[in-house]
Amino acid sequence: MAEPFKLYNTLSKENEDFKPIEAGKVGLYVCGMTVYDHIHVGHARAMVTFDAFVRYLRHRNWNVHFVRNFTDVDDKIITRANEKNQDPFELAQYYIDSFHEDTDALGLIQPDAEPRVTTSMDDIIEMIAKLVDKGHAYQADGSVWFSVKTHNAYGKLSRQNVDELRSADEVSGKQDAADFALWKIAKEGEPSWESPWGNGRPGWHIECSAMSDKLLGANFDIHGGGLDLVFPHHENEIAQSECANSAAYANYWMHNGLLTMTSGQKMGKSLGNVINVREALETFPAETLRIYYLQNHYRSALPWDENALPEALGMLARLYEARENAQAMGGQEEAQKVVDDCGEEAKEVFELGTTFQARFYEAMDSDFGTGTSLGYLFRLARAVNRFAGHKKAKKRGGPVVAPALAAFDLMRDALGLMQMSSAEFHAEVKAKRLVALGLEPSTIEGLIEERTQARLNKDWGKADELRETLESKGIMVMDSRDGVTWRVKL
Ligand SMILES: [Zn+2]
Repeated sequence: MAEPFKLYNTLSKENEDFKPIEAGKVGLYVCGMTVYDHIHVGHARAMVTFDAFVRYLRHRNWNVHFVRNFTDVDDKIITRANEKNQDPFELAQYYIDSFHEDTDALGLIQPDAEPRVTTSMDDIIEMIAKLVDKGHAYQADGSVWFSVKTHNAYGKLSRQNVDELRSADEVSGKQDAADFALWKIAKEGEPSWESPWGNGRPGWHIECSAMSDKLLGANFDIHGGGLDLVFPHHENEIAQSECANSAAYANYWMHNGLLTMTSGQKMGKSLGNVINVREALETFPAETLRIYYLQNHYRSALPWDENALPEALGMLARLYEARENAQAMGGQEEAQKVVDDCGEEAKEVFELGTTFQARFYEAMDSDFGTGTSLGYLFRLARAVNRFAGHKKAKKRGGPVVAPALAAFDLMRDALGLMQMSSAEFHAEVKAKRLVALGLEPSTIEGLIEERTQARLNKDWGKADELRETLESKGIMVMDSRDGVTWRVKL
């Protein structure tokens, strides 16, 4: 059975019990990318947030139908294509492919449908025609405008007064400053489509109304997107859809907060502080970004600076370390007996482990509280790592850490974290952090070999010197009975 949960609804500004339109099912529409560039770490927050949301709902037995669109014709795409002297459709396709590469590399699940503007033109024109027929839209200057004042509830999402609004589209013949374009008359040299109002292309907002209508129905469960889309984009979607269909639009509005630079700056191309996802993934495993986004509540602003990913990688490494430590523990006794013999550290691990699932679900079911639930996870991992130092842990600790291992499995299934084996994780960290340090593996192996020789020759001075050299490069050398291994310091 699908488990109940609460979700903050931007429309009511309250945490509400989620009530599905159809029992056990969730229709989810999320605004996707305008494809004129590679995605950066700010965009990826929305992608990872909704990926984890869908994973979690499915984990809780909801049948989710997840739709995310591509805006593949738009002013920005046309401008960029003109700058590059490229065909705008080719440019859009190039960045759609890039998006798929990046989201695959991030380990994201694919939506059930990915509608595009250019393949939804009939649906878009049909919806505009409906709005014109019903008197909610009119033609002026050859374009078609939505008449904001014909929608009584306009402003209900963003809580704005319609009399103070002004849309960005300025044109003579517009009836009200707040009216916005549904169909833009064709301009010389731009892509255009035939319509009852002449050749042109759609305004930005109408596409999401038309696509969600087609794929999820006029009234559907949850509409998601970044907080920056509340106004005007989502407000306008509501107006278009409710006026065209004479029905309520999305029942719940879910908005993720934005990435903010700790310096107070926004992240933006013009500021030169943008980090693309593909760039970040050259030096960090994908789960580093996932943990960085999910450690905060999805609605809060998420501070970004150059320490964000190194810190998140440190947290991720401690989780993998805890799982490795737990997996290495043996024993067949009853857990309580081991706890009684091993004292406080064992008791803490066992308690945190056995209560984890209930606390995790409670936090998650209260407006998708990934920050709180990861807080529990980090506490559990710390407790495991402390307990691993106990002299009886390795031989007898298995039953005590069994609930912790179940908690790590739960993370993989419900949030997409800790999906790698330890060997995969260490190999990836090594490869990517060497790139970050600008080092070749052969350089490190050479120095290690030299040190091993020095030790064989009992030249301890030289061996120590080489260890220091490696450490100064960020490499940790570990000697054990099985030989020498090394890791990149995190
Ligand atoms: Zn949209």
